[in-house]
Amino acid sequence: MFRREVADWLAENLTGEFAGLRGLGGPGREHEAFDLRLAWERHLAASGWTCVGWPREFGGRGLSLEEQVIFHEEYAASGAPARVGHLGEQLLGPTLIALGTPEQRQRFLPKIVAVEELWCQGYSEPGAGSDLAAVSTSARLDGDTWVVSGQKIWTSLAHVADWCFVLARTEPGSRRHAGLSYLLVPLRQDGVTVRPIRQLTGTSEFNEVFFDGARTPASMVVGEPGDGWRVAMATLGFERGVSTLGQQIGFRRELEGVIEQARRTGTIDDPVLRADLTRAWIGLRVLRAHALRTLGDEAGPEVAVGKLLWAQWHRRLGELAMRARGARSLTHDGEPDEWQRLFLFSRADTIYGGSDEIERNIIAERVLGLPKEARA
Ligand SMILES: Cc1cc2nc3c(=O)[nH]c(=O)nc-3n(C[C@H](O)[C@H](O)[C@H](O)COP(=O)(O)OP(=O)(O)OC[C@H]3O[C@@H](n4cnc5c(N)ncnc54)[C@H](O)[C@@H]3O)c2cc1C
Repeated sequence: MFRREVADWLAENLTGEFAGLRGLGGPGREHEAFDLRLAWERHLAASGWTCVGWPREFGGRGLSLEEQVIFHEEYAASGAPARVGHLGEQLLGPTLIALGTPEQRQRFLPKIVAVEELWCQGYSEPGAGSDLAAVSTSARLDGDTWVVSGQKIWTSLAHVADWCFVLARTEPGSRRHAGLSYLLVPLRQDGVTVRPIRQLTGTSEFNEVFFDGARTPASMVVGEPGDGWRVAMATLGFERGVSTLGQQIGFRRELEGVIEQARRTGTIDDPVLRADLTRAWIGLRVLRAHALRTLGDEAGPEVAVGKLLWAQWHRRLGELAMRARGARSLTHDGEPDEWQRLFLFSRADTIYGGSDEIERNIIAERVLGLPKEARA
């Protein structure tokens, strides 16, 4: 019944100017039809189809876990474009609902729901990636204002974002996890420079972000000053929610596209490629089974298994796409086609959101209880 409602709404609304958005956007393809995707997302919002898992009191649709899965599956199955406001909807919003003040919720949540303000995540720095506790961007209180200085890097979508949630060191001389704060910083101000980084794919969807005396009100700290590590980890706990089931439908479509390419080029005659395509299909079933089994347990260390599984699966799919395309995968007319882009961008899957090595450390230490890795 609910599945029907979602599917019908999407079929009726993914028409007219929005019809051409099918399949656009997503990792490696964020540049595609950005303005129209933003308009589409505001259209979704107007009918209450953004932030569907948030409680109603915060502007969400209050869907159950099961309904959220259905929503994401139907959304992906319809070919509707990848979302532009996902960092606000999936990361910052849930963090504010859990740990924000009533004023912060009132100020920010409605604009996330309506897709009027876009967010980005300012964690990584040139010297702090996997080792996030090495953050050195600093902020100090000047009267009733935080003044932020330092550099973030790999900040996805900062070039289109209005705000950034920034992990900064607010206690001078503090070390590691202590003395950090989680600040909400407006990006469109003097004192912030956003510099896009050109990727392997030739496009730019992440950035360097320089804070040079950037300012934000004292009230823009989530949780207590100095308690930013806990807040930052809470945000990461929201990163891998039910939307992974929608992601898998996108993966299936990509796999079908790779098989189609293999038929077209004749590489399907290669029995080794056929065996690997079959393995990929089985891998997708494993991904789905794992995601369903761990649904609702987004904070558990088993989540690391899910990240490892999908990242490796998708990276191998990129390699399969190149094999399926044969020699034509080696050249392009100035910019990579969608299969080359899949291959190139999927190299990043095993880095962002926790690299393979870090996920394996988590499994070794927290699931198997093996001795801890040496730490600097
Ligand atoms: C496409 C993409 C989008 C991103 N978007 C954002 C974003 O929006 N916001 C943001 O803050 N960051 C973002 N990042 C950054 C991402 O979080 C980091 O790249 C990631 O945490 C790894 O950090 P690093 O790049 O500094 O590599 P490093 O931490 O320097 O790691 C280098 C290598 O060493 C390995 N390694 C490191 N430590 C260990 C260890 N203890 N044991 C074993 N091996 C280890 C790593 O696995 C890796 O292979 C993005 C990255 C990518 C690729």
